[in-house]
Amino acid sequence: MAGGSLLRPWLPLDIARDALTLRRVPFDFSPYAAVLLDLDGTLYHEDHVLPGAAALVARLRSEGRTYACLTNSTSSPQRLRERLLTMGIDVPADQIYTAAAAAADYVLEHFPNPPRVFNLATEGLHEMLDGRVHWVNEIGQPCDAVICGAPANVFATPQRQRIALYLLRAGATLVGVCADRVYPSPRGLELGSGALASMMAYAAGVTPLYTGKPEAIFFQELCGKLRVEPNQCVLVGDNLESDIAGAKRLGMATILTLTGVTHAADVPSIPNALRPDAIIPDLTHL
Ligand SMILES: [Mg+2]
Repeated sequence: MAGGSLLRPWLPLDIARDALTLRRVPFDFSPYAAVLLDLDGTLYHEDHVLPGAAALVARLRSEGRTYACLTNSTSSPQRLRERLLTMGIDVPADQIYTAAAAAADYVLEHFPNPPRVFNLATEGLHEMLDGRVHWVNEIGQPCDAVICGAPANVFATPQRQRIALYLLRAGATLVGVCADRVYPSPRGLELGSGALASMMAYAAGVTPLYTGKPEAIFFQELCGKLRVEPNQCVLVGDNLESDIAGAKRLGMATILTLTGVTHAADVPSIPNALRPDAIIPDLTHL
């Protein structure tokens, strides 16, 4: 059964356009094999938890639901777990999936063991792969993959960008953590992983392979870990492209929350192809 047909008509889109007038209705997650929750803009914004987030996670746990948190973060699930704990949300690391974790899974699954990897991303990526890959550190060494994060990441210094350039020109695969152009920070927009991967790809004359949202590989890997089929899941997210479109392509039911990058004023102009099954002002409405 397609995921969308499972969603009860509890929140029709024409009502949702006037989102702030909605009644608060406990949402029944029982038709779904798993609940997937985006993090930034859905559960939290910067360092503060968004309304209803902690209660929703606690409820999913108390109801015994299969659920997971997902993010295009270049860090590790363990580091995201610690960040969530500071906000009073307790999610086990194995129920958090980051774009960097997807990149780590990709190299472990697609290259001879142990893969030879150059880290152009984060300490979190280093922690996930240390002891499981052969780290490449110099020009001229055999290299299967360069994993590329955002320009501000600790392992993405100009010196290391130059080493990566040589490794890519010698044949290494460019694995971009995600294709995001930018990401939000307390001081505004920052250059995203997609920006650095595009620059490296252009200089090296190669095509990057991305592992984060909205790539199908990201959702498929996560669903594989949860032992569920994508079209049996419901996803809650704030981003029409990386969350809703990615999930819809795999047949997931989708709920858009208006606490992140999509605002109530954007709702009437959402193209049909990107329409979620439901729209909520925030997680208290679940
Ligand atoms: Mg988000």
